Amino acid sequence: MKYEIEYACGHTGTVQLFGKTADRERKVKWLETQICPACEHAEIEKRRAEEATVAKEKAEEFGLPELEGTPKQVSWALTIRDKILNRELDTVNVLPPIEAGASCFNENSATDSKELRRLTLSPQA
Ligand SMILES: [Zn+2]
Repeated sequence: MKYEIEYACGHTGTVQLFGKTADRERKVKWLETQICPACEHAEIEKRRAEEATVAKEKAEEFGLPELEGTPKQVSWALTIRDKILNRELDTVNVLPPIEAGASCFNENSATDSKELRRLTLSPQA
């Protein structure tokens, strides 16, 4: 059944709903609290553009190479690269500092200490 929806943004649109009457009426009420698909699309595009701007600034700060492609491809790729970069930076931040790693190593068995000495000594020894 078709319903005329007046969205929260003020736009109207027709939707085709199926199922029980109660379910359809609940869906209509819910849709009326949402923005229309066109406004939603516009918001997504706006958010992507903002994310791409932030990503571009960060890429310049980190000296990352410029990306090639259509403006839309570049914008999208910048955002993806930024997400990967953020994830990698988070990984680096959770790693223990070098000193902690060294002290862990020193707490290990004497064999490890001997092995470390062997590895760090000159080849003649
Ligand atoms: Zn709208």
